[in-house]
Amino acid sequence: MATATMLHPDIEQLDRDDLRAIQHRKLAALGARLAQSPEWVAHFATAGIHPRDLADPQALAGVPFLDKATLRARYPFPLLGEPVSKVTRFCATSGTTGLPVLFGYTDHDLNELLAKQVARQLYCHGLRAGDRGYNGFGFGLWVGGLAYDLGMAKLGMVNFPVGPGRSELVVEWLRDMALDFASVSPVFLATLVRVAREKGIDPRTDWTLRHAVIGGQSVSRAFRDELEAEMPAGFKTYNTYGTTEAGGPVVAVACEHSHDRDEMHLINEDTVLTEILDPDTFRPVGPGEVGEIVVTTLDKQASPVVRWRTRDLVRVSDRPYDCACGRQGMMTIGRIIGRSDDMLKVRGVIVYPSQIEDVIAATKGTVKEAWQIYVDSLDQAPGRMSVAVEYERSYNGVPDDLAASIGRDLTSRLGLKVPVECHPEGTLPRYEAKAQRVQLRT
Ligand SMILES: [Zn+2]
Repeated sequence: MATATMLHPDIEQLDRDDLRAIQHRKLAALGARLAQSPEWVAHFATAGIHPRDLADPQALAGVPFLDKATLRARYPFPLLGEPVSKVTRFCATSGTTGLPVLFGYTDHDLNELLAKQVARQLYCHGLRAGDRGYNGFGFGLWVGGLAYDLGMAKLGMVNFPVGPGRSELVVEWLRDMALDFASVSPVFLATLVRVAREKGIDPRTDWTLRHAVIGGQSVSRAFRDELEAEMPAGFKTYNTYGTTEAGGPVVAVACEHSHDRDEMHLINEDTVLTEILDPDTFRPVGPGEVGEIVVTTLDKQASPVVRWRTRDLVRVSDRPYDCACGRQGMMTIGRIIGRSDDMLKVRGVIVYPSQIEDVIAATKGTVKEAWQIYVDSLDQAPGRMSVAVEYERSYNGVPDDLAASIGRDLTSRLGLKVPVECHPEGTLPRYEAKAQRVQLRT
């Protein structure tokens, strides 16, 4: 059994039953804590149960789901679990619709829990004390930048917390500071490669990057392969997944083995209990099936969640407990394939934006970070959908041929005829944070 990449082998090597035993013990303790909070008691009572019922692990399946509407109704400090005076810091979800929802973190939540969760992930990727990291995740209310600051500090890494943007500076620092690691959005990493080349910097020979964690959005294998080909030999981009509600970007990461299968481990299962449920029946799905990620935080003091519906859909691995890294109690899941509320139903055909991205990323000559979906209504059931892409400056062919080729691939992938337009590089919008791929065009 390989423990060389495990920061916490006492946990990471456990088999499924032993890991579940930890979860059950912590669920009972969580129930006892929530029983002190009238708000939480009232929330459980809507299903005729009490937080103390969590002493029986079977009771979790009867706890009402949490979602944004439930939290918004309890503005401004929903289900906090601790007095406001015990909160060190608030973070918030991006809030693309309506007011952001605040999530509190106590000193323990930040410096014990979150730091340890992220340090475990960094160690799993092969990073060690003294390695140099460029933290390109966002700061402010977003938890991403903060989480990687804490994780790098816990592991003893050297941190350059630039945040998103400042590409002209970053491409030089990656060379001059000989940085080993980057936490960055995938689209911005692609932008950095382009900016470097424009400045006469060759990432393959001038940079020493070994690892990048790409978060904020999920990218296809083709996109990752292409990025890795532009980087120093041996460079790997690791997918990561998490949410503010779960306590940060700490739900799932790829190990060196699952990376090749485009899968991630639920690597913090001793502190974040994850259910993968059929979004219609809410029954757990089996190997190879698609379900929605539902999380329960086991150790978080402020703003704990019980059965938070992420709306993110994943496919459970065909062999979820069989990874060569030795983390055999930590399920492997595929990358996020879409959100249950991003899903489009175009003339009766189900379409996820990620399927369109896969086709674009796999087509030579396209600009990977710039593409849009246009729909004639934003109600998730548009009558018309079209796709816009860009061709690279170096593309020698006929743009109409590129559009036709993508159109054919989309038809075979989706079972739907989709008009495709092809523009010169630089025409379509760029996004530094979460991309708004679906746009209204009537
Ligand atoms: Zn593994």
